[in-house]
Amino acid sequence: RQRGSTPDYGAVINEAYRLYKNEPGGKNADYIPFLAKVNSDMYGIVIITKEGKIFQVGETKFEFGIESIEKVFTLCMAMELFGDSVILQKIGADQTGLPFNSVPAIELNGQKPSNPLVNAGAMATTSLLTSYFGKADAWSKVNAYFAKFAGRELPVLDELYKSEAATNQHNQAIAMLLKSYGYMYDDPLYACDFYTKQCSYGVNTRDLAIMAGTLANGGVNPITKERLIKEKYVPKVLAIMGTTGLYETTGDWMFKVGLPGKSGVGGGIISVVPGRFAIAVFSPPLDKAGNSVRAQEAIKYISDKLAANIYSGR
Ligand code: GLU
Repeated sequence: RQRGSTPDYGAVINEAYRLYKNEPGGKNADYIPFLAKVNSDMYGIVIITKEGKIFQVGETKFEFGIESIEKVFTLCMAMELFGDSVILQKIGADQTGLPFNSVPAIELNGQKPSNPLVNAGAMATTSLLTSYFGKADAWSKVNAYFAKFAGRELPVLDELYKSEAATNQHNQAIAMLLKSYGYMYDDPLYACDFYTKQCSYGVNTRDLAIMAGTLANGGVNPITKERLIKEKYVPKVLAIMGTTGLYETTGDWMFKVGLPGKSGVGGGIISVVPGRFAIAVFSPPLDKAGNSVRAQEAIKYISDKLAANIYSGR
């Protein structure tokens, strides 16, 4: 990056699109029936600068399941309400080194949820929110907070929610296990269902970019200019993304790309360049850990081209 000059974001994302459009690797998530059916060829890339300029290419309007990416914004809300030390103490901030829905991860890590970006920790974080607001208000409060990140009210994809709710016994078991260890802060099956509904939010790539852009912009939505999380908490959220955002391969990701990110099994990945811009990419085929193959390649390309690696000390 030449100092002082505005990077040509448009040219960089167009090239990232062209380079990986025909990348054959990966496979849609199939453990949630709805996700298996989504067209694997779809691919969209959006960059948003901290000033709110948007650059986009590909299928950026298509709505897909936010899935695990919701965990970041649930964490933001809980951090805002309870503070960072409560998150550290009641959930944790450590990588598990194991898959996102691992039961051994709970057993091996002091029976704790480990961090807010694995299923155990996300359900525990959700249970903090539901207990705070109470059953009558929780959904409308959380929904309104997510809407502020995206700049529009996000729909719940009903077919996805039903598909996932019918097959989420494993997550229910995790919620019950955490309850037995004292790390669930509300009715566990209610929290699990609430979490499942949050994962079923429909987002397009542009929504995700704006949501991530809020974290690139120190907690202020770059489009609406509304502050959604205290500036002092943003580095905490990014640190957790940086250690655990791409499942058990986050270390490899940080080694290659050097940016905090979060992926979801719907095929989305967000990545944040603090103080500069955010990237969102969507493409359904996933690697074994659950990360979109094209999205990882596109973000690596963009990070290299725009000298965005946070460890580069530029
Ligand atoms: N709702 C999914 C689950 O709990 C989210 C998984 C993910 O995107 O990592 O299995």
